[in-house]
Amino acid sequence: MRIQNGYKRLSVPKGKTILTAKPFAYVLRSLYRNERCDHCLESGKLSKCSACQYVYYCNRNCQQSSWRTHSKECANLKRISPKVVPDVARLMARIIIKLNQGGSDEVGYYSDTGCRKFKDLMSHYTDIKKDEKKMEHFVCLCGVLFEFLGDTLMPNSAELIGIYGRICINSFNIFDLDMNSIGVGIYLGPSIMDHSCKPNAVATFEGTTIIVRTIEDLPCLDWSQIRISYIDTLKTTSDRRAELRSSYYFWCNCERCEKPEPTEEAAACPSGSCTYPCSLDSVVCENCNTKFPGNYQESFNEVSDFTAHHLQNMKNMAYLDVSKMCLKKQAGVLHALNIQHVQTLQTAFDSSVSLQHWEEAETYGKRLINGYLTYYGEIHPLTGILYIMIGKIQLYLEKPNQALETLKKASSIVTITHGDQHTLIRENLKPLLYQATMEGT
Ligand SMILES: [Zn+2]
Ligand SMILES: [Zn+2]
Ligand SMILES: [Zn+2]
Ligand SMILES: [Zn+2]
Repeated sequence: MRIQNGYKRLSVPKGKTILTAKPFAYVLRSLYRNERCDHCLESGKLSKCSACQYVYYCNRNCQQSSWRTHSKECANLKRISPKVVPDVARLMARIIIKLNQGGSDEVGYYSDTGCRKFKDLMSHYTDIKKDEKKMEHFVCLCGVLFEFLGDTLMPNSAELIGIYGRICINSFNIFDLDMNSIGVGIYLGPSIMDHSCKPNAVATFEGTTIIVRTIEDLPCLDWSQIRISYIDTLKTTSDRRAELRSSYYFWCNCERCEKPEPTEEAAACPSGSCTYPCSLDSVVCENCNTKFPGNYQESFNEVSDFTAHHLQNMKNMAYLDVSKMCLKKQAGVLHALNIQHVQTLQTAFDSSVSLQHWEEAETYGKRLINGYLTYYGEIHPLTGILYIMIGKIQLYLEKPNQALETLKKASSIVTITHGDQHTLIRENLKPLLYQATMEGT
């Protein structure tokens, strides 16, 4: 190949790993304290730290690797027991401990020459100081930290706000294979990436290691153009923008925010047979000219408010009967791709899975796919994992041929988002594919 101007600008295909990194600091979420190793975050047979009786480890190796950090918190965890330290406070304490141990010199690379130290991370210092809610949280955290760490290690308040701000702006959720958030961490190199609601890269995890892969073909690897998503994008444009503004202090001007999907808040066409996403600003369906009944706007608002109320209540726990009641009300009123409808299908799916109602789970899972394809995109970890879950459900239902089809789709997605060496493929997907092949005809 001829190299022009001495540089070869290589194009980057989708499914390429462009960055892997170990965390600068991280914590296991306290929710998983008794179920996962505090060091490597794996589940399995665990033993308690005999000194604090608070953290658990897989084995001596994990305990020893963790000791440099844990030795500074162990006695304190024991002292304040049985209180549980909030996750953010513990992460903040670990950062303070690390900075005290010379962590301010640690460098995280995102390319051969591009790198960042902890102080290079954005803190949004002035935004945080003006943000009443954040400052209230901060003051509360400081109280916990003083009790937990004592005052010998504590930096001054300006430095503390700087650390708090960097956590708010830069921390990553660490996900397990099913995309449950099991930890939270700061990664120096990866913090270079900006946000888009239609990202061209995604982050997945192997234990605590972050892996960033492209999900689109790119003309070259230009870090100023790499975008991941900071938030769950199964939300309306106004909700995404509001969340990004209040959590990250910017107004999103990404492609999707500038040109929202017409389906996001659409009504169903009253004709029943037409699938056009109707806007209630009009009085007829712009596709088939069916006239909206007089009370259409009113009943749309009623269903929408009803759904919003119940979705809010189900934020931490989804209920199948409530989800079904919402779906019934939505029929013929909300468009099939209306975000509220898709979110309700999600709670219906989640609750039927946890109740092990496999028939219903399969139905809701399949109905959910179009929403995922529209709002997450085809090449997205969540879309791939949804296909894996549906495939698994179809195996439970003894439908191996359908399962095989579904799992092949999953495979074509997660090979890009996770890569074929990822534990998700080796330990979850491959055995399912094998089972479907063996049981099928
Ligand atoms: Zn471990
Ligand atoms: Zn301990
Ligand atoms: Zn956006
Ligand atoms: Zn129509």
